[in-house]
Amino acid sequence: MATGRVDLDGNTIKPITICMIGAGGFIGSHLCEKLMADTPHKVLAVDVYNDKIKHLLEPSSLPWADRIQFHRLNIKNDSRLEGLIRMADLTINLAAICTPADYNTRPLDTIYSNFIDALPVVKYCSENGKRLIHFSTCEVYGKTIGAFLPKDSPLRQDPNYYVLKEDSSPCIFGSIEKQRWSYACAKQLIERLIYAEGAENGLEFTIVRPFNWIGPRMDFIPGIDGPSEGVPRVLACFSNNLLRREPLKLVDGGQSQRTFVYIKDAIEAVLLMIENPARANGHIFNVGNPNNEVTVRQLAEMMTQVYSKVSGESSIETPTIDVSSKEFYGEGYDDSDKRIPDMTIINRQLGWNPKTSLWDLLESTLTYQHRTYAEAIKKATSKPVAS
Ligand code: NAD
Ligand code: UDP
Repeated sequence: MATGRVDLDGNTIKPITICMIGAGGFIGSHLCEKLMADTPHKVLAVDVYNDKIKHLLEPSSLPWADRIQFHRLNIKNDSRLEGLIRMADLTINLAAICTPADYNTRPLDTIYSNFIDALPVVKYCSENGKRLIHFSTCEVYGKTIGAFLPKDSPLRQDPNYYVLKEDSSPCIFGSIEKQRWSYACAKQLIERLIYAEGAENGLEFTIVRPFNWIGPRMDFIPGIDGPSEGVPRVLACFSNNLLRREPLKLVDGGQSQRTFVYIKDAIEAVLLMIENPARANGHIFNVGNPNNEVTVRQLAEMMTQVYSKVSGESSIETPTIDVSSKEFYGEGYDDSDKRIPDMTIINRQLGWNPKTSLWDLLESTLTYQHRTYAEAIKKATSKPVAS
């Protein structure tokens, strides 16, 4: 662990205690790893699961053993939450239902998880004068203005019609029966509530809007470390297809566009927010990589090539198939057309820039997927030998 570390203004960084809710998830596991390896801070890690941070909790001889504690609790109904927030200098809230397959099929759970369950966290931080970093989403922007222009309009090429800016872009969601937007709407309302707590009651807050952070430990591989019928986010869906030598499914032709950022780059941004409160408080930050834009179809093609390289297996004859969103996600699905983050605010406040190209981040992530799951998939799919 480094000593004598200074913040962006040259002040010595003092060790703090962080209450991290949702620490056992994808982002939480990487953030805990970073905090343990490179900082002196303590973490009270709160989650209902700890599989993804087990390697940080055991054995007790680990160099950071006295700086991380796991508290298994569900923030929906546990009176220990306020005590943990009070013990900490900073609370980071990552807890959420955040897989699109749930938004239209479990809209009540989605709204409760992303709005109602976050309310006590905001309230305890505000009442106890504690700083809060809350994880929202790029989905609060919804669709781009450009999506409503005629297909052949030259304005579609104008960044004013698609680049997403924290302080000026509108939030454009579909109609209520498009339940996809239950998540984005709940996240938007909690953002507004946090902002209002800041304005009226002086809550010190930072809101993070992740733009498709991807990397090792994201979600689960259906039938291996998650339910067989489960539908994770696109990285794990496509990884699962590649591992099983099945065609990758392109929802509605895979025309939607996304920018992907490597989890390790994104974690650097969060660490800057943690350690530079004077620069981060009161801000909403886009965190993404505008240089890594692809259509979902291009992502599928690139992942197929990268997977061949890292696994040494040739790709299958029909690497992709088209599937309708109704078939794949069910009634009420809708999609964000394009997501390019504006980086002005995070650049100005924290000087952060992403570094890793899409090819490189897929190479390290798919190497991990292959190493972690290929054997288990082989075992699960091999037929018993006839006696
Ligand atoms: P994740 O599902 O891997 O992690 C969320 C964690 O929260 C899980 O470990 C889950 O068990 C925990 N949790 C949920 N409800 C809980 C409860 N009631 N009590 C205790 N723990 C609970 O998701 P992630 O990708 O790590 O995302 C973290 C946050 O970032 C979420 O708020 C999500 O909306 C936001 N986000 C992430 C991305 C991304 O690219 N990964 C994009 C947009 C937004
Ligand atoms: N998608 C796809 N095939 C899959 C899984 C997802 O075509 O097997 C598409 C999905 O429709 C969306 C994009 O990939 O357009 C990204 O989906 P993800 O679940 O990662 O979340 P989102 O970026 O929409 O929040």
